[in-house]
Amino acid sequence: MGDESTTEGHSIEEYRRGYEQERRLRGFRSQCGFTTVTWGLLCPQCGKRDLAEADLVGTGRVAAFSVQQVPSDEFLNDVPYAYVVVDLDGGGRITGWMPSVRSEAELTIGDRVRFVESYKSGVHFERDSKDMP
Ligand SMILES: [Zn+2]
Repeated sequence: MGDESTTEGHSIEEYRRGYEQERRLRGFRSQCGFTTVTWGLLCPQCGKRDLAEADLVGTGRVAAFSVQQVPSDEFLNDVPYAYVVVDLDGGGRITGWMPSVRSEAELTIGDRVRFVESYKSGVHFERDSKDMP
């Protein structure tokens, strides 16, 4: 986090490694201020081709979630878990999962969460220990 050594150009593979090995969340930012985690050519807000790679803040708040009882193959041994949509503090909305949440009573919209390194693919969130109201 906070490392400014961004590389010229990027690939989907680098993008995935960013999630899984470097403890970084990579995204893209337009000059209009729109921030997204979705790799693309055009800014979905202003339509310009100016999306530049940016490191995203790994903390945010739960915008929506649901507890999954029926997993995809990859998460076969992990149910139940929460599928979460997170609004990141520095902008950007990302989907991920929280294996620590096993019922709907354990999470509330607006709860603070942070991105953590994981042995699994996907964007793994845990409750932020520095939870602030
Ligand atoms: Zn834009």
